[in-house]
Amino acid sequence: MKEYLLKSPVFAMAAHQFDQTAEFLNLSEDVRERCKWPKRMITVSVPIKCDDGTTQVFYGHRVQHYLSRGPVKGGLRYHPKVNLPEVAALAMWMNWKCALLQLPYGGAKGGINCNPAEMTLGEQERVTRRFAMELFPFIGKEKDIMAPDVGTNEKTMAWIMDTYSMRIGHQVSGIVTGKPVSLLGSEGRTEATGHGTAFLAAIALDECGISRDGATAIIQGFGNVGRYAALLFERLGIKVIGVSDSKGAIWNEKGLSIKKLIAHTEEFGNVKGFPQSDEIDGEEMLYQSCDILAPCALDMAIHKDNAGKIQCRILAEGANGPTTPEADDILEQKGVFLVPDILCNSGGVTVSYFEWVQNLQRMKWRREKVLREMEMKLHDAFDRVLSFAKENKISQRIAALSLGVKESADVKSTRGLFP
Ligand code: NAD
Repeated sequence: MKEYLLKSPVFAMAAHQFDQTAEFLNLSEDVRERCKWPKRMITVSVPIKCDDGTTQVFYGHRVQHYLSRGPVKGGLRYHPKVNLPEVAALAMWMNWKCALLQLPYGGAKGGINCNPAEMTLGEQERVTRRFAMELFPFIGKEKDIMAPDVGTNEKTMAWIMDTYSMRIGHQVSGIVTGKPVSLLGSEGRTEATGHGTAFLAAIALDECGISRDGATAIIQGFGNVGRYAALLFERLGIKVIGVSDSKGAIWNEKGLSIKKLIAHTEEFGNVKGFPQSDEIDGEEMLYQSCDILAPCALDMAIHKDNAGKIQCRILAEGANGPTTPEADDILEQKGVFLVPDILCNSGGVTVSYFEWVQNLQRMKWRREKVLREMEMKLHDAFDRVLSFAKENKISQRIAALSLGVKESADVKSTRGLFP
């Protein structure tokens, strides 16, 4: 099983980061082994009746990386290329993220190899409900709590909540986070990841002595994370000069109007053709000079072949795993200030935690409170990562991972080995 996982470039990358961190922390061999590999990997077939009367079988995965610090928590991804090792890598990153943010969760991730863009709403609903039923023994508000990720959204979470609640016989709102506010979702959850990404990128500007006013940002990906990061950049006076999505990329040196761009994508489905902008090649866009580059799409976007061409001052990783280890080395040599993924995009799981707490307590927080508490937690984690990196003369990536891995390793050692 280990060899199988390591054949995947994404899992190999997560494992490499773990090995570097474990080496730095001088972890014992037995704790390393217990922390590195997933605790539980579940793969199920998900057959559905399509609208045209045919039957299609998808494959769904849920990986629960670590069960020693509370229930597991992590997103659910719908993408045609989803596979088990990739899900396992994302679950591992999720684990260090929860521990870094001091949230009482282990990491998990899920995915189904379907393409929501080519499915009707009814087909998406049937895939989701069938997947939730297949996973029923393994999920629960005290066991495993899902949230949206690439290709899923609050509607997906509503279907999971409904399916689970119908099966159990009463409403269980804490089974998922990122659900609609009308179903006891949290105010502020939809924008949390992008908002947190831009919030931390702005603090990084302060740290680098760059004025926020008139600073420039380029964003790869204009989905949930990218668009809310763009909105906060604009509010903070940071000009968003380039934006891409899977269909194309646009550019305006004077700054794009983000609210108008969101309206445009809602009408046309992508950023292409936005007035007051020029078309640019998506890859070329990454090489343009800017203060902040925020990759907010898929993993491994920045690799050994393009890292040398990147000219940003700050890399704010809204996506999970957007930078390979070889690219990390190149960017470090260039003096790029890194806000690593497990810190940068942690606003999402932080507000998911707030949503879960509100559900368990039958309480409702106002949006201002949610975002204020999130910003406090993110700022605290940013400060801890920076001090740890400086004290130990290590990269901000290894510092962030070290804080997460050390917390997880300490808990394993303290709990001991059963039986
Ligand atoms: P999403 O599906 O809402 O958006 C993804 C965006 O990336 C879309 O605009 C898509 O067109 C674009 N994209 C895909 N391929 C691209 C390419 N080759 N070049 C440019 N753009 C491309 O997904 P999301 O929820 O915004 O997630 C984005 C990333 O953030 C993922 O890595 C995800 O794991 C991570 N993340 C998301 C959350 C969350 O709360 N949604 C939380 C933490 C991390």
